[in-house]
Amino acid sequence: MDLNTILHAFTPSLISVAMLLAFFTYLAIFGSILPGRIIPGATLSDGTRLHYRCNGLLLLVLLVILLGIGVRMDLVSATAIADRGLELLSTTLIFSVIVTLLLYVASYRSCDRSSSLKPHLTGNLIHDWWFGIQLNPQFMGIDLKFYFVRAGMMGWLLINLSVFAKCIQESNLSQSIILYQLFCLLYILDYFFYEEYMTSTWDIIAERLGFMLVFGDLVWIPFTFSIQGWWLLRNKVELTTAAVIANCLVFLIGYLVFRGANKQKHVFKKNPKALIWGRPPKVIGGKLLASGYWGIARHSNYLGDLLLALSFSLPCGISSPVPYFYPMYLFILLIWRERRDEARCAQKYKDVWAEYRKLVPWRILPYVY
Ligand code: NDP
Repeated sequence: MDLNTILHAFTPSLISVAMLLAFFTYLAIFGSILPGRIIPGATLSDGTRLHYRCNGLLLLVLLVILLGIGVRMDLVSATAIADRGLELLSTTLIFSVIVTLLLYVASYRSCDRSSSLKPHLTGNLIHDWWFGIQLNPQFMGIDLKFYFVRAGMMGWLLINLSVFAKCIQESNLSQSIILYQLFCLLYILDYFFYEEYMTSTWDIIAERLGFMLVFGDLVWIPFTFSIQGWWLLRNKVELTTAAVIANCLVFLIGYLVFRGANKQKHVFKKNPKALIWGRPPKVIGGKLLASGYWGIARHSNYLGDLLLALSFSLPCGISSPVPYFYPMYLFILLIWRERRDEARCAQKYKDVWAEYRKLVPWRILPYVY
């Protein structure tokens, strides 16, 4: 491929802008009107709480049904995303830059007004744009942080479905493609089934909304988590039955640990007396859960996520490192994040955290790390 062809592939067209705007508009309108459980978020520094409408699963299923109808009626092409992958990537990147610059200006202005939630402004333009100024910026009643992460996870599925349609169109279906697609589909559906658990995660409770987070949600999640799907479109992998079984086991164990740990913490936060694995929970200082997965390692949920990430790449075999981009990235991210979360919790919980560390010495993987 020459430079001109590459540049052309990345150049946003009006169609990719329209596709992106249609997607964001759908999420904004239907996300605000479709029914869903209203979940209170963490208590903010001024004592108030945001409320999140958790209707992501319904929103996603309806979107896929509408697109399916559109495909059947020849109004949209099932391979539209797969055919325009690179230009959609650059369009989304440009959108992220514009939106975070607008966010920067709006947040900068709001700092003048007296706000009990104290936006975080350092005065360094690059720093404030990159890390964000406000914790929970809202636009027309929509919590932007919750909205963007939702868009990213749904975008990932839409890309996968379109790449899958392309595989069918090219008569290129294989066991590896089906495994990859199935694992991601289950992971994303599960994410939206338990969408309310997102309201107690680090991103939602602790990260300010700047370019780093918006880029991560809108560009990084959908376009890099789907690399395996794109790779399988051009590379054939034959899996043995033993490899398929081993791959399914990695997915299953990863899922049980990931979902189990996140669920236990969420349930504990809501009701500190709720049973964990059928027994009363071990609680430190009335605040920290030290039984179940949280008694095995201080972040077993990260271990589960890493196993899941690995299971998404194993269908691609081991001939190339490219499909292993996601687990490698996640490994680095979660090691870094665990360190940041550890520092945050040590500062927040002080002696209680020190006691927890003593009782549960392992960070992510018992006897290893
Ligand atoms: P956690 O869900 O682990 O949340 C950390 C917070 O939980 C802490 O700050 C603290 O908050 C609370 N906490 C920690 N230990 C305990 C305890 N023992 N008892 C009670 N509360 C505790 O982290 P993340 O938000 O980073 O991750 C959530 C999920 O998202 C994970 O499964 C992770 O793997 C996944 N993830 C996936 C990514 C991806 O790219 N695929 C990226 C990032 C995360 P508090 O102050 O409220 O007590």
